[in-house]
Amino acid sequence: MQLFDLKGRVAIVTGGNGGIGLGMARGLAQAGAVVVLAGRNSAKNAEAVAALRAENPQAQPMAVEGDLTQESACEGLVRAAMERYGRLDILVNNAGTNVRKAPQDYSLEEWRFLIDTNLTSAFLCSKYAYAAMVKGGGGKMINIGSMTSIFGAPFAGPYGATKGGIVQFSRACASAWAKDNIQVNAVLPGWIDTDLTRQARKDVSGLHERVVARTPAGRWGVPGDFAGVAVFLASPAADFLTGTAIPVDGGYSSQA
Ligand code: NDP
Repeated sequence: MQLFDLKGRVAIVTGGNGGIGLGMARGLAQAGAVVVLAGRNSAKNAEAVAALRAENPQAQPMAVEGDLTQESACEGLVRAAMERYGRLDILVNNAGTNVRKAPQDYSLEEWRFLIDTNLTSAFLCSKYAYAAMVKGGGGKMINIGSMTSIFGAPFAGPYGATKGGIVQFSRACASAWAKDNIQVNAVLPGWIDTDLTRQARKDVSGLHERVVARTPAGRWGVPGDFAGVAVFLASPAADFLTGTAIPVDGGYSSQA
């Protein structure tokens, strides 16, 4: 369907070599976009590129290795996409991590690590992508928040600060860049089965059951649950949608 057609579009997905990022990258590639993945781990990058290529023989995915807490890596990522494909239409700011403990137990180093990974990387990638998108006449940015963008979690102070920040940064960019035909939205995942949460399920007793009980859909999310929202927000179908924060959570945030 033309409304959701991404043929000829170029998309960067940070943290696209696994988990939610790869789920979104798969959706974008299936809708016709060329996908540029970014992550630190070259083996995971290569595996993800091979998977995308196998699933979509017409796609020409590539991966760029780098630590996106570094400005040079964010600038280099956008430059690599522009040099190889000549345009940038879609940016998914998805790279992220967590360290779980009580607020008073974080070191300043851990606080900075989380802010840099989850929030500063999104700022830097957006900043460099903006210039590239303006050249092409517009674009779509999708920033990944969390249920902690809405709720407080006792074990996720700095993480929640980054994810609240992601929503407000998305709204500010949406306001600033609407005139450039750039739409910016946030997606707020519920509890999703990925490397990030697999350890938490082992460490926190009863977590698995609590999530299932609290989620109206009655299950954990999977990365494939994010393919559709990525395609929608990246497509012409969402041209008048900007500055929103959309929960993709099986109803978690709608139930008291
Ligand atoms: P994963 O751990 O599976 O994926 C995280 C991705 O981020 C990896 O591809 C990783 O690649 C990349 N990454 C991390 N740090 C950096 C860095 N410094 N530079 C470049 N890439 C980096 O986790 P999820 O898929 O679960 O998480 C994806 C996003 O979704 C995160 O922002 C997370 O906060 C958010 N989220 C997840 C939820 C869940 O339940 N799983 C719930 C709510 C939000 P590499 O290791 O190769 O660098």
